[in-house]
Amino acid sequence: MTSLLIAARALVAAPPAASLRGPAPSDAPVPTPSAPAAAPGEPGTPAAAGGISPDAPADPPGDGHQASRVLSPGWLRVDGGVIAEVGEGPPPGPPDIRLQAGTLAPGLVDLQVNGFFGYDMVDADESGWQTVVTRLPETGVTAFLPTFITAPVRVQAAALRRTEGLLPRLPAGARVLGVHLEGPFLSEKRRGAHNPAWLTDPTPDALALLLETGLVKLVTLAPEREGGLDAVRTLTESGVLVSVGHSDATAEQVAQAADAGARKVTHLFNAQSGIHHRAPGVAAQALADPRLHPGLILDLHHVAPVAARLAFNAAPGRIVLVTDAASAAGMPPGRYELGGEPIDLPADGPPLRADGAIAGSALRLDAAVGNAIALGVGTAAAVDAATRVPADLIGRPDLGRLAPGAAADLTWLAPDGSGALRARRTWVAGAEVWNAETRGSGGSSPRDERTTR
Ligand SMILES: [Zn+2]
Repeated sequence: MTSLLIAARALVAAPPAASLRGPAPSDAPVPTPSAPAAAPGEPGTPAAAGGISPDAPADPPGDGHQASRVLSPGWLRVDGGVIAEVGEGPPPGPPDIRLQAGTLAPGLVDLQVNGFFGYDMVDADESGWQTVVTRLPETGVTAFLPTFITAPVRVQAAALRRTEGLLPRLPAGARVLGVHLEGPFLSEKRRGAHNPAWLTDPTPDALALLLETGLVKLVTLAPEREGGLDAVRTLTESGVLVSVGHSDATAEQVAQAADAGARKVTHLFNAQSGIHHRAPGVAAQALADPRLHPGLILDLHHVAPVAARLAFNAAPGRIVLVTDAASAAGMPPGRYELGGEPIDLPADGPPLRADGAIAGSALRLDAAVGNAIALGVGTAAAVDAATRVPADLIGRPDLGRLAPGAAADLTWLAPDGSGALRARRTWVAGAEVWNAETRGSGGSSPRDERTTR
């Protein structure tokens, strides 16, 4: 097993602080010479249970963890694919790698990837999957949930079986953590780009069929549908994270979904009832309820900057940055597919369906982190929203943090020539899977989604 000593400005996990009811100040001065951190899965780490037990008391913001903090300078030692040590100051020996500028962060974790690089995950062939897992590290992503949007239940079940068959043959690259089913149990009123002909109620039979492979780790549903709350309970009991989304629910109905075990809200503000002060809907409950973790598509098209700031201020430690990337992501303008329907990627802005509905995004997750920082969110909190928070939510406390015992999934984030934050080098289990210097970032590199409006 190889050992690797990396010297860098590094963003490390802070220890759990049960008494702390909010995140630590971003980039706070570091009081101790080293960074003791929770061993992943350690008893008492709320994330070890996935944070989705319906009987659990409400988690404090940030699941009891302080926001991570930046050690500058800092270092970490990797042994056998796992982080063995992290520390502040000069490294204890000659480093194998010295990263100048930028920040070494945990590899990014994306819970909503419909597709990328021209491939729609739901019907990508094996070479498509190979392309996506080997190239996502270019965007800093080291683990993700391929996301299948609304289709007939039997079609989704077939896609799950096909995926189960090809996963063991995938090459080194981003980890596939399971599958996110976004639909078909969604509201007609808030369907967005989903095909209304296939929307349906979550019957016990449908759920049983979809849970057969064990691949499903996250389901987005509208809890106000017939049988919705029972479905939340069934999924939660099966260890599946439930996210309220494409929903016209009232805030009260969303609270009932959280009572039943839901812990996430899919793409806050998009395709859901909002924050009207006398008729609060999904977005209001998502921000106000400490049990819920709002996903945010931070391409500055799906949600205006002021609304994104509102979200980070209202739900510190609970925001989850996602791309909701469609097959058009990482590709030049043109025609692509989402859930079998044609979508068009314009020169600027997200992909659109023929009727003008936004159909996923062309966002890359490193850019989303950069956009959060540009909005005034501290570096540590912005990175946490794309690493530790999503990892904990889906019950993977071994990922998404630089801490002893965690997987050595790392990405070195630094501004490119235009000032946009980019993954320069990425490692999965201690093995380098992306290096912008040696492999270049030519014309087919994921495009910039940073806007100035
Ligand atoms: Zn959606």
